[in-house]
Amino acid sequence: MMILSERLKKLKPYVAGEQPQDRKYLKLNTNENPYPPSPQVKKFLESLDPDRLRLYPDPAAIKLREKISERFGLNKNQVFVSNGSDEALSFCFYAFFDSRYGKLLFPEVTYSFYPVYCDYYGIEYEKIPVTPGLAVSPKEFLKRKDSCGLLFANPNAPTGTYLNLREVRTLLENYPSEKPVLVDEAYIDFGGESAVPLLHDHKNLLLARTFSKSMSLAGVRLGFVLANKGIIDALVAVKDSFNSYPVNTLTQEIGQIALSDESYYRSINNKIVAVRESFSSDLEKLGWTVLPSKANFVFACKEGHPGKEIYLKLKERGILVRHFDADKVRDYVRITIGTQKDMQRLLEEIKTLF
Ligand code: PMP
Repeated sequence: MMILSERLKKLKPYVAGEQPQDRKYLKLNTNENPYPPSPQVKKFLESLDPDRLRLYPDPAAIKLREKISERFGLNKNQVFVSNGSDEALSFCFYAFFDSRYGKLLFPEVTYSFYPVYCDYYGIEYEKIPVTPGLAVSPKEFLKRKDSCGLLFANPNAPTGTYLNLREVRTLLENYPSEKPVLVDEAYIDFGGESAVPLLHDHKNLLLARTFSKSMSLAGVRLGFVLANKGIIDALVAVKDSFNSYPVNTLTQEIGQIALSDESYYRSINNKIVAVRESFSSDLEKLGWTVLPSKANFVFACKEGHPGKEIYLKLKERGILVRHFDADKVRDYVRITIGTQKDMQRLLEEIKTLF
């Protein structure tokens, strides 16, 4: 048997949602956008000159970072881009969370990649209790002393619960200003308010964002971090110690094109929000409990039917939702919001099954 590193033996990898290739499912399990990317992206791909792929991409992704910074009223040196936001998150963990200064705090119910990065980089962490309604509790965060940083997704995953800007500000005002606070805003464009305006007063704030959800570009793998220049410089140092060209030529270009079509994206995401609200109320009428969501998914349960049973029965009928076999959430399933037609089909199945 070949030698394996001790590092490798200790890894507990993240398990991504299924992307089955065996049959055609209605995919409501990985929070992809049901609408296509901007028509401008299609035009670009149809007219692409393959010769452009001969050369390496711009390692600093200057044009893309400029475009992102314009969208948020920031300077380009406040933007870091990455191969999906998972990569950006990983770089943040590497650069800013160090258990010598205490444990990293994140909610007990949250994105299951966070503990994986902690184990990967040897960062000790403490899971902070959520409220009885499974929402992130700023009060619980602030009870802890001696932490090395603080992390939460807003809206949170897989619950969809949301802290408003005032709550995020209060949390920052009451947390030591020399310790990093990372807010994962992967789902912020579905009715939430971004913490971008807080960057000015809070030099320890980092916002992780993605093109995978609201920009309908999960396949191109583009994520970014918004923060102050010193933080971005540190992330660039991590990137350049690992892979200097993580964001490929096509992705850099497609990102810029997508950002130029704000009105298209506003219109598809408004539709998703409207469908989320009507779907949630339809589910409630059928006796389901649905957590209030500001994301492109809902977290729901039906008494008498464990989450795993719901997941398996829907899968048999060709519909994929996500189930997490973990404390406090195993009764639930997470359902991505698709088109009106998708959700109608799901409701019909639910009516006959549960
Ligand atoms: N953060 C959260 C909370 C997520 O749910 C996801 C998607 N799995 C990501 C980050 C990563 O998204 P991506 O790497 O596609 O940008």
